[in-house]
Amino acid sequence: MAVYEYICRNCGKRREVHASISEKEKGLKISCEACGSPDMDRLFSPLAVRDSTRSRKEEPSCPNQGDCRKCVEK
Ligand SMILES: [Zn+2]
Repeated sequence: MAVYEYICRNCGKRREVHASISEKEKGLKISCEACGSPDMDRLFSPLAVRDSTRSRKEEPSCPNQGDCRKCVEK
């Protein structure tokens, strides 16, 4: 999962969208939460910094303590 940030060209409201790379490549349909406009611009902001907190949040609940392949791929 990654976080993409969009800004509405109509009203200027920003919106964060969580999507996987494959979802993104299929084409996300983003519309403004405030005015409903689909005219959204992608913002390139350093949201990747949040990856450091993500690993803490997604502790493996697997009995193998994250050693199995399934956990590693998450
Ligand atoms: Zn808007």
